[in-house]
Amino acid sequence: PADLFGARRNSRGVELADEQALEPLLAAIAAVGSDFGIAASIIDGADAAGAARLLLSPVDGRTEIGRAVDADAETVRKAVASAAEGFRAWSAAPAETRAAALERAADLLEERLPAFLAVLALEAGKTLADGVAEVREAVDFCRYYAAEARRLFAAPVAMPGPTGEENRLAYRGRGVFATIAPWNFPLAIFVGQTAAALAAGNAVVAKPAEQTPLTGAMAVRLLHEAGVPASALALLVGDGTAGAALTADPRIAGVAFTGSTDTAFAINRALAAKRGPIVPLIAETGGLNAMIVDATALGEQVTDDVITSAFRSAGQRCSALRLLFVQDDVADHMIDLVRGAAAELKVGDPRRPDTDVGPIIDREQTEKLAVHVAAWQGRGGVLFSGRTPEGELAGGTYFAPTVIELPDAAALDREVFGPVLHVVRYKAKDLDRVIGDIAASGYGLTLGIHSRIEATVKRIVERLPVGNVYVNRNMIGAVVGSQPFGGSGLSGTGPKAGGPNYLARFALEQVVSINT
Ligand code: GLU
Repeated sequence: PADLFGARRNSRGVELADEQALEPLLAAIAAVGSDFGIAASIIDGADAAGAARLLLSPVDGRTEIGRAVDADAETVRKAVASAAEGFRAWSAAPAETRAAALERAADLLEERLPAFLAVLALEAGKTLADGVAEVREAVDFCRYYAAEARRLFAAPVAMPGPTGEENRLAYRGRGVFATIAPWNFPLAIFVGQTAAALAAGNAVVAKPAEQTPLTGAMAVRLLHEAGVPASALALLVGDGTAGAALTADPRIAGVAFTGSTDTAFAINRALAAKRGPIVPLIAETGGLNAMIVDATALGEQVTDDVITSAFRSAGQRCSALRLLFVQDDVADHMIDLVRGAAAELKVGDPRRPDTDVGPIIDREQTEKLAVHVAAWQGRGGVLFSGRTPEGELAGGTYFAPTVIELPDAAALDREVFGPVLHVVRYKAKDLDRVIGDIAASGYGLTLGIHSRIEATVKRIVERLPVGNVYVNRNMIGAVVGSQPFGGSGLSGTGPKAGGPNYLARFALEQVVSINT
């Protein structure tokens, strides 16, 4: 279909390969500087008080980029109380008013691209290409959910019925929604969840990850400026303790969470244990994502797509490729190509346009990666390990792109969140076993297939309940409105973000039947 969603178009972003666009952008980013001030919880538009912790950039481990004031239990209560109050007016506002505020937010995000690229690089270690893609995605979420709000919520839907009876289905906000975002998409996912909850007529208490409060605070201030009332959107800064207090609050009517599978289980248990209404959880979690490459695949294309899928964003995407299955007839050749291309990756300062791989979010994550890789080093499985930057960046939390060959898929039983690619060889006759191994992980987020045989592609797709399947291309960077994103099983509950079923889950349905 040419245009399913009316006049909406995805953001164009900036072409970084175009020198004329790049030069002024780099100057504008440099002018932003590296001090992003204080990120405190924002309640009714005002910063909450409290002790501040210093935030250091993962780029070099020493640049002070701002401070965060973590919420205590009282601040959490105040944030929810304020949103509960704000819910009344916001849920009663016409869908058009809510949509217009989100569209204004999209325009402001595009206008302030340099400021967001700067904070995304310094706080989250995002390369310029990743930053541009992330701002575009945030913009797209705002415009898409605005369009969806008009489609779904502008007027009740007339349902069929016998003569003399009128049936109308209407949607309304549920109340106060908690949105809890991950550090790997501190802008796009944070804004996406929040925009969806707001579009559906909820008030929101939005919690960014503890590693990325500055980006979250900038986004919330922007949403307020765009016309979302301060009482309808509170920011909650803090770690998992604040998140747990938020979801435990009896006034929370819904939770949208993106992050680890373990945390989703913990939220589910907490929601089940509390009294009051049964609260829906919309969770988007991890993946143990595989790509299957058979002997008909094109080597150069596979290499490009493997490198992008495994190492872009330093592998810190839940959609990233973790487990590459290569048919043994072509495995030596493919592995050589991938190893050669991985050796070309430039790890370094994410603000430099020639950097391919920026830092890992923090020390804790790099240590987990180091322990994993060391274990395979001991077993002789490491095929390639790149270099991390020295000198000025030596204090940053970098991790070198690494390729490990595993004896079989069972050797990897959990998500390794970083630039570590695992390779397993398989024989053509064992394809069904490969499919079984992928299913056995219990995850179902993304899947890549490189094959020129249609029947093979069909067989794999039909047997695996994976949310997003990518054939003969890379497997990251789902596009809002075109590739609704999200998985099943251990990877999440659905509905898919950026898709036509997402907003309805944030709303209550009410049917009015009138005897006329
Ligand atoms: N939607 C993103 C993508 O397709 C991944 C989201 C995530 O990593 O949480 O690449």
